[in-house]
Amino acid sequence: MARIKYYYDTETCKYERVKVSRWDMFLNSLGIFSLSLIIAIIILTISSTYFESPKESLLKKENEELLIYYEDMQKDLDQMNSMITALQERDDNIYRVIFEADPISSTIRQAGVGGTDRYRALREERLEREDLVISTFGRLDKLKKQMYIQTKSYDDIFQMAKNKSDMLASIPSIQPIPNKNLKRLASGYGMRMHPILKYRRMHAGCDFSAPQGTPIFATGNGKITRARFSKTSGYMIKINHGYGYETKYLHLSKFAVKEGQRVKRGDIIGYVGNTGLSKAPHCHYEVWKDRKHVNPVNYFYNDVTDEEYDKLLELASRENESLG
Ligand SMILES: [Zn+2]
Repeated sequence: MARIKYYYDTETCKYERVKVSRWDMFLNSLGIFSLSLIIAIIILTISSTYFESPKESLLKKENEELLIYYEDMQKDLDQMNSMITALQERDDNIYRVIFEADPISSTIRQAGVGGTDRYRALREERLEREDLVISTFGRLDKLKKQMYIQTKSYDDIFQMAKNKSDMLASIPSIQPIPNKNLKRLASGYGMRMHPILKYRRMHAGCDFSAPQGTPIFATGNGKITRARFSKTSGYMIKINHGYGYETKYLHLSKFAVKEGQRVKRGDIIGYVGNTGLSKAPHCHYEVWKDRKHVNPVNYFYNDVTDEEYDKLLELASRENESLG
């Protein structure tokens, strides 16, 4: 309630009512308002210095949470790093060793991720925790690169394994005729008396004596490069197995394949005979590696036991007369 003010007028000897001008009222109000404003500002400044607003404390909480998550992510990254290191070591020291491949050099494995200002956009953000954010991104990028290299390496290994199994299937590794009791290996590789020419000369293969018509097998996967008759070899087959290997089968009675045909190990390619310079029905078998004949007895390991193999070695080393 506004108080009404009076003053004593000495001329009229009366109390007269004080007249307040609008201007005075305005100045009064302005004064009160300014004072209130100053007090309010002081209170706010003090409270914001010593007390948090609900919004501020929410942001602070969020910030703390984010920091915890980033720290957790760093721990996960440590774990992922040790996992990828284990994969790399296994790759270099086991898988690549099996396939005789060089390990992947550490400079390639550890190579950084391209571009110096890869994180420029992030830096321009002027983040409060710039180091933490950029180092996390950097570690993730490095892991991605390492994973990519590892995946490529597994692709290589898959191809090498495939080649290796092709190679193992191709290299001659069985005897060319059924030889259960090993009695058919009649003469081995080395200097032997030739039964028809009647002088000692290099016998470049093994002779397996067997009845006329006994099936002869391809000793590894390959391609028939020759199936022809000659006066000395009789009916003869040559197989190219790839990887530098060839095999020859001589003195056959009949062919079961044609030149150019692909065969698998164990396929029947022809039958035992007595054609060409041959004393009795038998299969003269040769193994060639890089255009040189080698001792076939070293290529019979797939279809014999260790004892049988020893027996074959002994039989093949006997200094007897060859069958042709
Ligand atoms: Zn022979």
